[in-house]
Amino acid sequence: MCGKIVINGRVWEGDGTCKWVDEALFLPLQTVVERMGASRRWIAYPRQLEVEKDGKILALEIGAAAARLQGEEIPLNYPVYVEKGVIMVPVSLICRFFGLSWLYVEDVDALVLSRPEPALAGKTVVLDPGHGGDDPGVISGDLIESEFTWDVARRLGGLLMLSGALVTSTRQQGETVSLPQRVTMIEEVRPDLLISIHFNSFLCSEHNGLETYWYSNWLARQLAEYVHRGILEEIDIPNRGVRESAFHILRHSPAVSVLIKLGFATGAGDQYVLKDSWLRERAALGIFRGIRDFIEASPGQM
Ligand SMILES: [Zn+2]
Repeated sequence: MCGKIVINGRVWEGDGTCKWVDEALFLPLQTVVERMGASRRWIAYPRQLEVEKDGKILALEIGAAAARLQGEEIPLNYPVYVEKGVIMVPVSLICRFFGLSWLYVEDVDALVLSRPEPALAGKTVVLDPGHGGDDPGVISGDLIESEFTWDVARRLGGLLMLSGALVTSTRQQGETVSLPQRVTMIEEVRPDLLISIHFNSFLCSEHNGLETYWYSNWLARQLAEYVHRGILEEIDIPNRGVRESAFHILRHSPAVSVLIKLGFATGAGDQYVLKDSWLRERAALGIFRGIRDFIEASPGQM
């Protein structure tokens, strides 16, 4: 498998894919060097490659059983190799050097690399996947709202935790939880943020597009705008705007809260997007970036 790469909240659009070699995941050195603003150079003797970032040096040798990080020897079960002129390095080694965490999202064959995000460190986010259990939400063909809200929340939770946030969910997969029960849970957890995920529905399939809701709170409005923009950057879906509405969960949540209607489950165009698991991952990535950028832009208020 040759997978996609996501670094610090953005899909890598340049050349290069990650690749499994037996049990180890590799990625092209140049991709991460460029994205992390590091430099690399060949040393003729001893014949090795040096990666430098902020005065820290990682010395690599093609095919060798070890690398040197700041002079310390790091044994490698799988050596650095070259394929079609591209230098492939073990993800675990490169993450150790750059201080990154990583996650492989199997169903979309994607490697996600993330720095610890200071904005997210110690922040508590409650995810609220709409419906579930006895309440499936909208059913439109083989698109069941409760299953898709769960899927997007699961992907978003993975991204947030990788970057240092504390994440809980108002329900587990397939669990029935009423709105008042969800509110009670949110009151107990007292999170910094609440992200509720739903889909829209209408009688005809021509209605498509993204809506993001907030209620009564200026910070929530800001969060809604960041999240909305983040999603639109990632998936091609009509923009139906950021709106204010007194949804039960927004009215009663003590946290800075938004409710996302991630397209119309009944919309022909939106269905095309929503049924694609990679596009759902990208929607989650857009929400993740919206949350991160909102907190970064709100110093002292969050
Ligand atoms: Zn819903």
